[in-house]
Amino acid sequence: MSTFEQEMKKGNFVCSECQKCNKLVWPPNDFCNTCFGKVRWRPVSKLATVVEFSRKENTVFCVAEFEKTIRVMGSLESLSGQIKVGEKIKLVKCEFNGKERFIFQIAGS
Ligand SMILES: [Zn+2]
Repeated sequence: MSTFEQEMKKGNFVCSECQKCNKLVWPPNDFCNTCFGKVRWRPVSKLATVVEFSRKENTVFCVAEFEKTIRVMGSLESLSGQIKVGEKIKLVKCEFNGKERFIFQIAGS
């Protein structure tokens, strides 16, 4: 199991970062995808931006972008009212069970 999966299982969303290139390596990997150097793992910001979304019955699924780099699929919970592209959301829960799962709320709510 990768570092990413282990941390996700514990509810921590982490990403690999290359010290040499000074950038996040996504999808997460033990080695930088540019210089192949070793990476450092660090927590990702809890805040993200909605890139796109779709509604299916009572659930809203979205593509969320963290730190202008990382894009993940997730779902929004306790959503009342409208949502739009560019909306600020926060990660409230992440888990890993064969695949990763991200749950968001509108930031500030
Ligand atoms: Zn690098």
